[in-house]
Amino acid sequence: FDNQDVLIYFNNQFVPLRDANVNILTHGLNYGTGVFEGIRGYWVPEEEELFLVRCEDHYHRWKANCRILEIDPPKSAEELTEITAELVRRNNFKTDIYVRPLSYMSSARVGVRPDGQHSFAIAAIPFGVYIDSSKGLHAGVASWRRVEDQALPARGKICGAYVNSVLATTEAHYHGYDEAILLNQNGHVAEGSTCNIFMVRHGKLITPPPSDNILEGLVRDSVITLARREMHLDVIERSIDRSELYIADELFFTGTAVEVAPITMVDHRTVGCGNIGFVTGHIRELYTQATRGRIADYHAWLHPAYQA
Ligand code: PMP
Repeated sequence: FDNQDVLIYFNNQFVPLRDANVNILTHGLNYGTGVFEGIRGYWVPEEEELFLVRCEDHYHRWKANCRILEIDPPKSAEELTEITAELVRRNNFKTDIYVRPLSYMSSARVGVRPDGQHSFAIAAIPFGVYIDSSKGLHAGVASWRRVEDQALPARGKICGAYVNSVLATTEAHYHGYDEAILLNQNGHVAEGSTCNIFMVRHGKLITPPPSDNILEGLVRDSVITLARREMHLDVIERSIDRSELYIADELFFTGTAVEVAPITMVDHRTVGCGNIGFVTGHIRELYTQATRGRIADYHAWLHPAYQA
């Protein structure tokens, strides 16, 4: 991202991105001791409004995850949401955006043991399509296993844990896949490198439970709600075997960045009929409409940045 004039929230101030820098010895940079979030905001021109999607829920998750590392930002989810809306207004964003809150151990010295110093920042930047999934993605099972809760909790959205995602996504690209699917140490399907996974089998929607070493995704949660309430589908949280990927009727990823992304090939095998499936297509449309404020029942998911 090359616009260094964009304002970000750093050390309790709104400063240009070029001035928001850290010392090279920063604990978080050397040891991965940070916790981050990813939030989307969608600009809806006909309403002259930018909707932050489940912003408070993201901040609640952030604050909960920060407790794992004991680096909780000293503000409430409501205050953090208001700061985010203020960032949108100060930057006068009239485009889709991505918001990146980051909380980290900020002492600049050598030594792993934390000394209680932490800091946080919230950056917001213009952001469009993360990965073009309009024709479906080709996913491949990674040789890297998902990090385990006993070692580095995947649910924590901890910076250092994303080395696992980087290894898997790099390998996936070497193999010509669009995205990786990581198995956990038990051999069950966990998730993609930056997204959760869903499978349709026998008319039911199935997704791995949190205890299978997944991040407890908010799009995952929204999709479960939409599938149950709008499509009256059975949604089941249970472990998924690798071989089920090969016989699934439909597969898709969910995540703030990827949104709802159909998987039409997995390990070089065609998923279902090879096109975007009925359930996937329907959920994708519902998610798009709900996050642009076009379904009244889901307005509570949206925080309008300008008219708040
Ligand atoms: N899993 C991982 C590893 C992720 O990084 C993300 C992105 N935050 C997700 C799943 C999806 O989570 P969400 O729907 O909250 O964006």
